[in-house]
Parts: sequence; structure tokens; C-alpha cells
Amino acid sequence: MSNYQLQIEEIIEKIKEIDAHIVGLQFPEGLKIRATMVAKQIEDETGAIAVISGDPCFGACDVSDVDMKGMVDILVHFGHTPLPLEYEVPVLFLEAQFQLDVTSVINEALILLKDYKKIGLVTTTQHLQFLDEVTEILKNEGKNVVLKEGRGTRKAQVLGCNFSAIEDLSVDAFLYLGSGDFHPLGIKLSTHKPVIIADPYRNEVRTIDQFADRILRIRFAKITRAREAGRFGVIVSSKKGQQRMELAQSLRKMLQKKGKEAYIILLDDVSPELLMPFTDLDAFIITACPRIAIDDANMYKKPLLTPDELLIVLDEKKWEDYRIDEIRY
Ligand code: SF4
Repeated sequence: MSNYQLQIEEIIEKIKEIDAHIVGLQFPEGLKIRATMVAKQIEDETGAIAVISGDPCFGACDVSDVDMKGMVDILVHFGHTPLPLEYEVPVLFLEAQFQLDVTSVINEALILLKDYKKIGLVTTTQHLQFLDEVTEILKNEGKNVVLKEGRGTRKAQVLGCNFSAIEDLSVDAFLYLGSGDFHPLGIKLSTHKPVIIADPYRNEVRTIDQFADRILRIRFAKITRAREAGRFGVIVSSKKGQQRMELAQSLRKMLQKKGKEAYIILLDDVSPELLMPFTDLDAFIITACPRIAIDDANMYKKPLLTPDELLIVLDEKKWEDYRIDEIRY
């Protein structure tokens, strides 16, 4: 974790400027280990009281502004850039930048990129500062590098489930700088182009193909099982940035038109334990975070489908057009 750079001086300056007495702090799961250290520094240097949000946080869609309303003067949210949402308290978004030499992992990625000329470069918030350097390396190897801003994102930035920075990009392949498989999977399924992952955490280069095949097989099996279902739960999130009530209502209507029963279920965090009491339902549709259905698929005994997957079940969409669900703001 020491490789993350948190701009604490900026927070301290802001707290002094607005004379904040109570400061909310919210960290993504991977940065919570730094929470008490940051709180101590803030309290020592400003005299303000820090309140750390202990709830899980996976994105800027899940800011604890509602919980902290009336409690804090300012909320500092680490690790994500803001979404176009209205927040209930002043929120300072601070990116946590990963400090590392990415040269070797990019040079290694060039081996897998050797057959491609036009490269779409993509990354997540914590690696945006490397884009110029990576572009330079690729250009020096004769590559044509393409980067695009998305809706509410910076150039080349995939933000949570917002893949708009890669939409309609005419490239031969994508180079994804970052960790994890969800984002490269989303790029692969949206574009059907080769996706090479340069992972600076593991210092490892790989393609997403094997993982994508495995996920598609799992999703296909879940969709097939859900075709047998007669009673559905349509999950709506109470998290402001994940709430898609209109979508839930329209999916419910579609299910009813096809002679199925459907019930809307409101949840904050979604887990297998919370769905377990609904023993009379055969399958669930999740309009909350799309990662839950993909990342946690094996934890759910009954099919837990994304909205698009339900459309496939209902023969309103073709399996060939399968792509990752995206919450649009
Ligand atoms: S809803 Fe989208 S932005 Fe929010 S945690 Fe899930 S994937 Fe990330």
C-alpha cells in the first residue's frame, strides 16, 4: 500500500480554509488500511474530528454523503473521480495515485501487441498519470495510440462500469494498464477486439481471452437456467449512484407481459445471505452494481442476472450481442 500517494496536504488546506470541525473520510476497500493514519494526521494538523466510513465502498456511485448528512462539514472520498450526481454534503474527491515504474510491464506488453498497429490505451483512475509515458513508449515502437474522453471521464479512463471512453474507437487492439479482470472484460465484450492487460501490481502481462471465455460460459449457463424461472425478484439499490428504479419497473413489466411473476426488492448491499429468505423466487435480476452478478456469480445459488441478460432470457436480445451492464448517468 505504500505505493499509493494520497494528497493529504490538499485535504488539510481545504479543512483549514472552510474551518471544518468534523470531517468524513471514505476509502475504497484497498485503501482502508490507511484510514486511521490519515485520520490521525488530519486530527493532529487541523484539530478537526475525523469520522471514518466503515461501510464497504467500491465506487463513486457509493459515496456516504447521505449517511453523513448533518454530521460532517465536509466528506473526503478517496480513490475515485466524481460522477455527475448531486451530493448531500460538500465532497472532496481525491485520487489515490499508484507510484511505480510501469516501463518494464509496458515493454513486455509490446510483445503481445506486435501484430497490432493502432492501439486504444485505457486505464483506471489511479494510473492516469502514466498515460503520457505509456503513449511515448508505444509511439517510439511505431504504434499509433488512440485515447478518448468518455461521458464524465477523463481521456482513456474507464470509471467503474462506465466504458464510454472506448465506445466507437477504431483500433486494432486495446492495451489496458491496471489490475483485475472486470474492466478488460468489459472492453472485450463491448468491442470484440483483442485486449492486452499490463498489470503493474503483479508486473504481469496477459490477454483477457481465457477469462472472457470462462465468464461467458458461466453467464450462458445462468441465462439458460433462468429460462425455466417463473417468479423473479428485481433488485433495486438504495445507493444513490446505483439506483435504477425506472429500469426495474420496465423489466418487471416485461416479465409480467411474458406471464412471469416479478417483485421489486430494495437493498443497500447485495449478498447471497440477504436473498436467501426469498425461497419462493426462482431467479433475481440486479439493477444495482453490474459487478455483483459477474464477480460474485459463484456465491449465488439461484441465477442472478443483469438487465441485458434478462432480455436474452425473454428473447428480446440476442446472445451474440452480449455485453457488460453499464450504469449511465
Ligand atoms: S455500479 Fe459501477 S461504478 Fe459503482 S461500484 Fe459498481 S461497477 Fe463500480
